[in-house]
Amino acid sequence: MTDAIRILLVEDDRSLRQAIISALLQGGYAADAVNDGIQAAQRLRTEAFELVLLDLGLPFVDGWEILGQLKGHPLPSVIIISARGEEQDKVRALDMGADDYLTKPFGADELLARVRAVLRRVHATSTSPRVVRIDEVVVDLGARAVSRAGVEVRLTPTEWALLALLAEHAGAALDHRTLLGGVWGPEYVGDRNYLRTFIQRLRRKLEADPGNPTVIQTAGRNGYRLGPIPESRPPIGMR
Ligand code: CA
Repeated sequence: MTDAIRILLVEDDRSLRQAIISALLQGGYAADAVNDGIQAAQRLRTEAFELVLLDLGLPFVDGWEILGQLKGHPLPSVIIISARGEEQDKVRALDMGADDYLTKPFGADELLARVRAVLRRVHATSTSPRVVRIDEVVVDLGARAVSRAGVEVRLTPTEWALLALLAEHAGAALDHRTLLGGVWGPEYVGDRNYLRTFIQRLRRKLEADPGNPTVIQTAGRNGYRLGPIPESRPPIGMR
């Protein structure tokens, strides 16, 4: 099991911690847990995890602060696990770099499905060795790299998955259901907040003027498109 994927659980509720760890271990992951924010910060500074399951309400240092410390780093991916299911918390967490948000209570199957989905984005490989150029942005689908004005732009796995999907169809409009289903999975096709938040994150990283985007353009009411297009091109997945 030396190759098992390492996951850190940060959760102060003892019984929940045990239940999640046992689900993760049964799922074949190398899962480890800490019960407060200070330990979490320390472990994350000194060890390499691919994924963090992060509770927001924690002793000493809360989950928001941990999330803030991870911001800007491509790994680990972060799934928030919280009893606070308010939409504004979700949007704030996604905006701060979380990849997903799971509201308590949740079942082991749902947890493992979310974990698999996030890890799939980390390990996704593109089959198209294409390079797409929009203005000064270069998206290299084969190398999984993106640069702006010659400077490498670091993306999280989820940001990359969204950009890659747009780049594979550069010039074509993809509607929100296609993008949500393609990046997050079929159960997310109605969750436009995820898409809106991640589009904003990409625009902040890629656009000269994020408020007036030219790289990731809004197409129609609910779609996006990478770069300009011939208007004769039919939209994909539009309905
Ligand atoms: Ca808690």
